[in-house]
Amino acid sequence: MRVMQGSFRRKDKAMVKSKQATIIYTAGSHLHAGRGRKDSDSMTNIRNIFCVGRNYATHAKELGNAIPTSPFFFMKPTNAVVFTNGQPIAFPADQGSVHYEVEIVIRMSKKYEPGMKLDEVIDQMALGVDFTLRDVQDGLKQKQLPWLLAKGFPNSALLTPFHPFPGEAALRETNFSLQKNGEVVQNGNVSQMLFDLQALIDFATKHLGLDAGDLIYTGTPAGVGPVADGDRLSLYWGEQLWGECSIALG
Ligand code: ZN
Repeated sequence: MRVMQGSFRRKDKAMVKSKQATIIYTAGSHLHAGRGRKDSDSMTNIRNIFCVGRNYATHAKELGNAIPTSPFFFMKPTNAVVFTNGQPIAFPADQGSVHYEVEIVIRMSKKYEPGMKLDEVIDQMALGVDFTLRDVQDGLKQKQLPWLLAKGFPNSALLTPFHPFPGEAALRETNFSLQKNGEVVQNGNVSQMLFDLQALIDFATKHLGLDAGDLIYTGTPAGVGPVADGDRLSLYWGEQLWGECSIALG
């Protein structure tokens, strides 16, 4: 079993310094991870974090939103990133509901130029949770303000370790899912996206600029919902457990 010990140690130190909850991380855990320079690069050299809203029709509907006719992006600051290692992850208890949104996350390895294939510009993928302060977001929507406070808070960009990108066709063969306390709450497949990876990269390249180290959270399927203190979240790629954490509201 391969584990990114160096990176986790750095993270552990940072979290201990910030007086967060006790870190529970044991070497030789069952979480999958790559090792080596390339993979630790993807953990530390994150540039921009782009996120796609309403990219699954069933999720747009469950929140009462119209089905979009073009991709819709927002961003998270890099300060929001936290990697799963089985640990408790802290969220505010005084900002209303904290919702999970499980998503496929892709990492750009270089700038996209028209004509390039996806696997020339996406080198790695992970699963992520786009944590959202849903009540704060509803308030911001009503005031027609940007979503930053509802989407960009510390630990709101959860990531499992990265894995090599297998190509979009291979992605269609595997579902991703989120379990809360051992029960599947979300289950999706890249084929259900309203805008596929090519469309997202075309749009983001044109309107936002995309380059090496940029991440894209590609949207969440239906089933989003609130977390409670002590909940255990497990992110699965098919049958493989890619990451786990628990929730510490406080
Ligand atoms: Zn999302």
